[in-house]
Amino acid sequence: MFRFATILFFLCLSFKSFSQPIQESMAKSELYRYNVLNQFAQKRTVDENIDLVYAKLALEPNMNTGAIVSASVRFTFKVLTNLNALSFDLRKELSVDSVVYHGIKIGFLHGTNHILNISLPNALTQNALDSIRIYYHGTPNMGSRAYSRSVNASGVNISTLSQPYGAPYWWPCRDNLKDKIDSLDVLLTVDTPYVAVSNGVLHNILIEGSKRTYVFKHRYPIANYLVAVSFSKYNTYTQKAFLSSTQKDLDIVNYVFPHNKLNEVKVQTFETIKMMHLFDSLFGTYPFHKEQYGHAQFSWGGGMEHQTMSFMVNFNYDLIAHELAHQWFGDKITCGTWKDIWLNESFATYGNLLCYDFLGTKKQWMDVLKKTQEEVMSLPYGSVYAKDTTDVNKLFDYRTTYQKGAMVLHQLRWLIGDSAFFQAIRLYLTDQNLAYNFAKQKSLQTYFETTSKQNLNDYFKDWIYGQGYPNYQIEWQQKGNQFEIDIKQTSSFSLNDTFNVPLPILLKGSNRDTFLRIDIKSLNQVNKISLDFKVKELVFDPQHWLLAKTQILFPKDNNDLISIYPNPFNGSIYISAREIQISYFEITDLTGRQILQMNYPNPIEEGGILRIDLSAFADGIYNLKFGNSESSLHQKIIKLSN
Ligand SMILES: [Zn+2]
Repeated sequence: MFRFATILFFLCLSFKSFSQPIQESMAKSELYRYNVLNQFAQKRTVDENIDLVYAKLALEPNMNTGAIVSASVRFTFKVLTNLNALSFDLRKELSVDSVVYHGIKIGFLHGTNHILNISLPNALTQNALDSIRIYYHGTPNMGSRAYSRSVNASGVNISTLSQPYGAPYWWPCRDNLKDKIDSLDVLLTVDTPYVAVSNGVLHNILIEGSKRTYVFKHRYPIANYLVAVSFSKYNTYTQKAFLSSTQKDLDIVNYVFPHNKLNEVKVQTFETIKMMHLFDSLFGTYPFHKEQYGHAQFSWGGGMEHQTMSFMVNFNYDLIAHELAHQWFGDKITCGTWKDIWLNESFATYGNLLCYDFLGTKKQWMDVLKKTQEEVMSLPYGSVYAKDTTDVNKLFDYRTTYQKGAMVLHQLRWLIGDSAFFQAIRLYLTDQNLAYNFAKQKSLQTYFETTSKQNLNDYFKDWIYGQGYPNYQIEWQQKGNQFEIDIKQTSSFSLNDTFNVPLPILLKGSNRDTFLRIDIKSLNQVNKISLDFKVKELVFDPQHWLLAKTQILFPKDNNDLISIYPNPFNGSIYISAREIQISYFEITDLTGRQILQMNYPNPIEEGGILRIDLSAFADGIYNLKFGNSESSLHQKIIKLSN
């Protein structure tokens, strides 16, 4: 799932082909929705005594009111333990008309706890295959937004979005993350000119007077919250992606509101083909390749990765990428508990970032990583894992569950290398116990450990369950061929935390560079390296791999690089930076309080001299910090009037 904040619209106007990843925030309405659904979820008591093998959902809405005029669900199930009763989740606003078992209406109780309890006329024994059909109608509670009716420039749209707990608001189901329905048919009846869309492939359209029944068939296991329907006037078109893994064309079927300019939308959805090629090669064959992929426009403020048919508010590049990546992460393998929703969202967010890595320019890739790093570290705390699913701010928190999770994966890629990283992901996605089933964090970790031959317990403990990130203070000096780097680590969150991801460091000389990967073994370490060229600048993490903040101190032996004079000073101070570009400076007092700060949109180039008038300053000692976005230098300066 992906929600948009208002900033999106600004970004869409600012970027031509690639938009920046979108800052997302939790809208009040979303909190309300989640609260309503969460209260319901905690009351649920559905047993786990059957395995659903097939569901046939038939539904006809009234487009004018949103009511469900008539609907039924037939479940075929395998009995797991001997039983004489069944139960399903269904909201009380919906009325059950009858329950039919072997052609006979049988007794049921639809309680105020939103559970439909069905008494069977005879006991069923373990491993028996049986089926039951539930007929219902009514007006769903639209406040939940799991099922909603809205009006746009093209007319009415009725659509569903059940994640996480909304499915029983519109159909009887077993609302858990334990059993996928192995095979699904959806029959949607609506008056022309409205069109209906659901999961899987459109098999047939049945015509009866002005009504059309759209028959969708889906032959892959599906989590109940990924079953979805949408009704609207739609323009439809198909684009094809040739999958090298199957050597076949895959249909990408798009359902677009008619008020959109079709030529423009086609250009946007065309990007899906490139992303499909990328993910098919990086993650393994598109999981539903025997059927199709597609997008259906809906009125909700974002997107939702409904299996084989993502629902989209628009066809923004990042939204297309995010929901497509979810077909592997979230749909093929679904989080086994909402606490592990990061297994869906971190990978979908990282899938989006990978489009910039593999399909964008180097600059676009570096820009999105830098922006994501900054947004994750805009606050010093927050874990990827959602310990408490009643903490509504946490579960769908964009900064941690989505962005930090994505950067933790990116950092892991740096730690273990591309080959081990992508191989582990492909093994995880094809694990027989996980594929088309539910995920377990430990299995994912085991694959990363197998391919990298590294123990990653500390990494997962620090970065998935732990909070914060390291701050590094780096000081360097060079005497002849001896180069020394002093590294001190503190944590943004807790004094007791230590992080041990190796540091990428670039040493730049006048016509030579060298790249270092420095292992972190203690909170305070000195590394000595033999170098045969003179270093002029040290750049920390130039490729934006890490979640870490850094302070690079003034080189101990720097006289030939930079000079600050006079010091002590009286009126003005001069910075002569022969080897560094200056785009800002900041002066603080010894308590850390900022006294003066200046940014230079047009930086002072290397070799320039910066004059700062400090004649108004009181006598005393100050910290001067200056530099650019990649490195900064610090120096104590002293004001002395006489
Ligand atoms: Zn998502």
